[in-house]
Amino acid sequence: MPAFVDSAKCTACEDCISTCPTECISLIDGKAKVNPDECTDCEACVDVCPETAISMK
Ligand code: SF4
Ligand code: SF4
Repeated sequence: MPAFVDSAKCTACEDCISTCPTECISLIDGKAKVNPDECTDCEACVDVCPETAISMK
């Protein structure tokens, strides 16, 4: 399953965006959002998010 961002927790630090190897995370309306079609389930963004806002679901 692709990564999912809990927008309530996201502070728009962009750490996940610079970490994602497939560049499938973007900021939309001030919150990180994953394009599930391009996510390879690598979980790098889950590990890097300081707010634990990203999970695999
Ligand atoms: S799991 Fe990997 S490929 Fe998917 S959004 Fe996170 S960093 Fe990008
Ligand atoms: S790393 Fe976490 S807090 Fe930072 S932009 Fe990504 S989801 Fe938001």
